[in-house]
Amino acid sequence: MDSALAPANVDSVPLALNGATHAPSQTDSVLKNESVSENRGEAVKTNLLGLNRKAMEEYFRSIGEKPFRASQLLQWIHQRGTDDFAAMTNLSKSMRGYLTEHCEIRPPEIAHVQYASDGVIKWVLQVDATNRIETVFIPEEGRGTLCISSQVGCALNCSFCSTAQQGFNRNLSVAEIIGQLWVAQRELGRERRVTNVVLMGMGEPLLNFNNVVDATDLMMDDFSYCLSKRRVTLSTSGVVPALDRLGEVSDVSLAVSLHAPDDGLRNELVPINRKYPIKELLDACKRYIGTEGRRKVTIEYVLLEGINDSPAQARALGKLLANVPSKVNLIPFNPFPNSRYRCSSPETIAHFSEIVQKAGIITTTRKTRGVDIDAACGQLVGKVNDRSKRHFRLQAIE
Ligand code: SF4
Repeated sequence: MDSALAPANVDSVPLALNGATHAPSQTDSVLKNESVSENRGEAVKTNLLGLNRKAMEEYFRSIGEKPFRASQLLQWIHQRGTDDFAAMTNLSKSMRGYLTEHCEIRPPEIAHVQYASDGVIKWVLQVDATNRIETVFIPEEGRGTLCISSQVGCALNCSFCSTAQQGFNRNLSVAEIIGQLWVAQRELGRERRVTNVVLMGMGEPLLNFNNVVDATDLMMDDFSYCLSKRRVTLSTSGVVPALDRLGEVSDVSLAVSLHAPDDGLRNELVPINRKYPIKELLDACKRYIGTEGRRKVTIEYVLLEGINDSPAQARALGKLLANVPSKVNLIPFNPFPNSRYRCSSPETIAHFSEIVQKAGIITTTRKTRGVDIDAACGQLVGKVNDRSKRHFRLQAIE
């Protein structure tokens, strides 16, 4: 067994990060911590980009204003994409002056951008002096999907993932998560819209629980991006307790990185499986779907030559999912430097897909997109060199 898969990796998963429940009291912490700008020798300003409706209402209450101001601000910030309080003409002049003095709308800054020949756009965003993240827009007929990050790096050490190689740096704030959508929409302009969001970029979303939930709340808020729950998908490697909590506070669509039909292999590929094995994970998926109105969970399965792509494993996967309302998204592996894995052949992938489909499970295979910009990925982001192409798993998520 590879040292990279040592049990210590599982034990060191920072579950304490999501120890707090998503409760109204979070508003306080949002105001006091995550959305308050660093003191850079200037007056400390509150970054309103990171406030969801509840936090925004609380902010206006705290300054003696009516909470309905929250809806106005959300519309200006997220629907009209403005970062200029002076332009908010349905606010009084004194209110605009107050907000200019005490608040700001500060998204992550674009460090680099790449345009692929097939329309895929990749932004590298600077979130602080040393950290960068990736956000990718993937246009398709009738829709545009944005793949966003939830953490800088990741602690979970999945053996097929290059993000795992850089370790965990920090959680993204609400402003940094929703800011990826804000920036993308600003750059796309009025001609192209983001119609779907997937949390499949860097990081494990459920290990940044509160911030991710607040950001997805904003995505689905009628006064913000107004995306339906079918159009916001959270992808997790299987943090079971957090998944149960998610079912209590959110109804985003769910994708799960399974990648193996048995615990022995999944322990190697997705080490958090040692803590939350497959049965516990699939039971949690069923509970989540139960609270969501019986929708399907998307099962992600990256195909690794000679590792998890045999006909017997396809049959085992079909059997495993027999009682789980699910669909399978097969992902041809994209090798990265020093990776120990290779991609399965097209024939193997087709045969694997056929077997799972015969088990009665809708199965799709990820299409390759943005190939001509992927090669330069490492040059763009330095250590943030995610060549696992999680961004493109979304092809089968509807
Ligand atoms: S696949 Fe996802 S959960 Fe696993 S290490 Fe990579 S970013 Fe983290």
